[in-house]
Amino acid sequence: MTAPTLPSLEPAPTLAAAPRPGSRAARMALPRSVDVLKQIAIEYGVCVRPLAMRRTDLDTGLTEVIDLPCGATREDKCPPCAKKNRRLRQAQIREGWHRDDEPLPGPQPATEAQKSLILFRAHLEFSRDEASRACQWDQVEDLDEAIREVEEAIAAEGLRGRVGPPHTGTDDDQGDDDTGRRRKRSTKRRQDAPDLPRRKVEARTVGRTYTAPDGSTYRPSMWLTLTLDSYGPVRPDGTPVNPDRYDYRRAAWDAVHFPRLLDRFWQNLRRCEGWNVQYAGCVEPQRRLAPHAHFAIRGTIARDTLRTVAAATYHQVWWPPVDVQRYTADRPPIWDEQAAAWVDPDTRHPLTTWTDALDAIDDNPDAEPVHVVRFGTQVDARGVMPGTEDAERTIRYVTKYITKHTGDCHKATTDRQRAHLDRLWRALRVTPCTDRCANWLLYGVQPRKATAKLKPGRCKGKVHQRDTLGIGGRRILISRDWSGKTLADHKHDVRAWVRALLGVTTDSATAASTISSSAAGDPGQLVDDQGATAERVRHAWELARPDDADVGPLSYRLMRSISERARWRTELLAAKDRAEQGPADLSATQHIAPQHDGEEDQVGRGPYDRAGSGPDQHE
Ligand SMILES: [Zn+2]
Ligand SMILES: [Zn+2]
Repeated sequence: MTAPTLPSLEPAPTLAAAPRPGSRAARMALPRSVDVLKQIAIEYGVCVRPLAMRRTDLDTGLTEVIDLPCGATREDKCPPCAKKNRRLRQAQIREGWHRDDEPLPGPQPATEAQKSLILFRAHLEFSRDEASRACQWDQVEDLDEAIREVEEAIAAEGLRGRVGPPHTGTDDDQGDDDTGRRRKRSTKRRQDAPDLPRRKVEARTVGRTYTAPDGSTYRPSMWLTLTLDSYGPVRPDGTPVNPDRYDYRRAAWDAVHFPRLLDRFWQNLRRCEGWNVQYAGCVEPQRRLAPHAHFAIRGTIARDTLRTVAAATYHQVWWPPVDVQRYTADRPPIWDEQAAAWVDPDTRHPLTTWTDALDAIDDNPDAEPVHVVRFGTQVDARGVMPGTEDAERTIRYVTKYITKHTGDCHKATTDRQRAHLDRLWRALRVTPCTDRCANWLLYGVQPRKATAKLKPGRCKGKVHQRDTLGIGGRRILISRDWSGKTLADHKHDVRAWVRALLGVTTDSATAASTISSSAAGDPGQLVDDQGATAERVRHAWELARPDDADVGPLSYRLMRSISERARWRTELLAAKDRAEQGPADLSATQHIAPQHDGEEDQVGRGPYDRAGSGPDQHE
């Protein structure tokens, strides 16, 4: 323990002589070797929280412990894994942004065998309907059995999805009362359609090509930033000029419903433009702590259109009113076991149920949505030419904060900033996050599916936590037909690039991808999820416990990985030199390699993911 230093007693910097050798201060000035080890691990891109997996060779019975990277996406958990993840996201954005062909050309036509199975299924449906009208229940049962078999055959024949929802048996519960009734009523609390032109949306996802006077063609893309409305004037440090006049309640509600507003924006834009506009982007806090979103858009859209659509887009929240907070977390309603309901602590009168609260909205012809989210007037959009440094810089900009927690993007360093964060958080704590939020109890309403487990005003939902700033859901938003690939596909591409460079193959990498995607680490049969490249499964994998004898201390494992990585990096650099001198056939895969990563432009920090095994561990 160090006594707090009085400001006046602080030694002047010039007097800070070296501490006496052998003193505690001298000892503390030496860096700890374990910290240096961790630091070097980070420098070499070695995961600092590796997951030990035991691999058993099914032919020989030999076991080996292999460290898999933890795969964290946030820097505070594991900087190397977070950086790797960001690099994959950048690859994903790069690949989808300027493409000039449809990423998913659509399914192949159905075969005759597939068609005949569907026809057969149709006949069964007809017979089932007849039997059920005639109350021939044993027949219905037989037909259900037949339907199940045909549907299995349909799936085996290589058709995606279900042909129809399953027939529910008589003993199946018909779903919860709330949802069943809500579905019937949903038209009343509808979203008003914005005042925009509506066109039929073509399946096309690729933008327009322009031809220059000299005959060359180009296909520019776009970059868009969408912000929320103003809640009051702010200073350059993001804090309000007048905190008492700043609308924290609206800021909190807007932050919670921002994802829905973005969804509506894309929906409206596609309808207005008449083609299936694709985007990849990221939601992050502005300095004033309100969320905003950056997007890369494939193709070009007139700036006026983007502004018009943003101005016309809104999202209405049809929830019970929250004008009066009737209870507090310190004086909450209580759960009545007998009534199976939340009741007033004094009168023991049950609180309004969710269904009743929504019915009241439906029955009131003058009902207004409890909240409406809109964008602010600031809509930034500009064109970006593919293959330029500008495009790369923009990709880095989009992904700048994705390895950080929302709350860590802009650290509050002054009292004013801390007070601003505090006020926003206090508003977020009492803002309902969903229809099942425990905060509804504060407003005298029982949330949907209320149980005794709720803690009034202390909902565990992410948006109520201080460091999310109300941005509780996914922050990376990528449309379905962006690159036609999932993040796992991109990961596989990167590995393929490294393997092509080194001329090695290993099954540990593919097995590892299966394990990390199935997360649970099923120790039994693991099949390579990449299909075509799968070899016969020779290994069984299981999670090893840190205290297992063959796992060993983390420091040993880190040291081994660092050594491997250092050699591996040298090897990769040499291979790259050879490839650059010789007739390189790697050009086709170059684009998936991390190019110009700015902060670290070295080969070897990049695309490797050797599943923790070094270059000399493969078989
Ligand atoms: Zn890691
Ligand atoms: Zn909540």
